[in-house]
Amino acid sequence: MLDGVCPKCNSTQVYRGASLEGEGLMAGTYTSLVEINAGKTVLVLWVDTFICGACGYLEMHIANRKDLNVLPQAIGWDKIAPLGLPQREPER
Ligand SMILES: [Zn+2]
Repeated sequence: MLDGVCPKCNSTQVYRGASLEGEGLMAGTYTSLVEINAGKTVLVLWVDTFICGACGYLEMHIANRKDLNVLPQAIGWDKIAPLGLPQREPER
């Protein structure tokens, strides 16, 4: 979907709603974010939304991907085991 093609219907009518940081929001704009508590720091992950104008399929992606490396230390976020692989206790 990030490449402008809908993965469900192959339409190229894909629109992105970029999340806007902080102040200056006007009618028709929005802020979408996820706050991550990593113990000593709280990080904000900004969410871009992609919608297919043909079938309505929707995807959300973190805009600031460089900050995704905080997830292993994030409080309340557990890595889930892929299907078919043995479960392990989460490391704390
Ligand atoms: Zn579609």
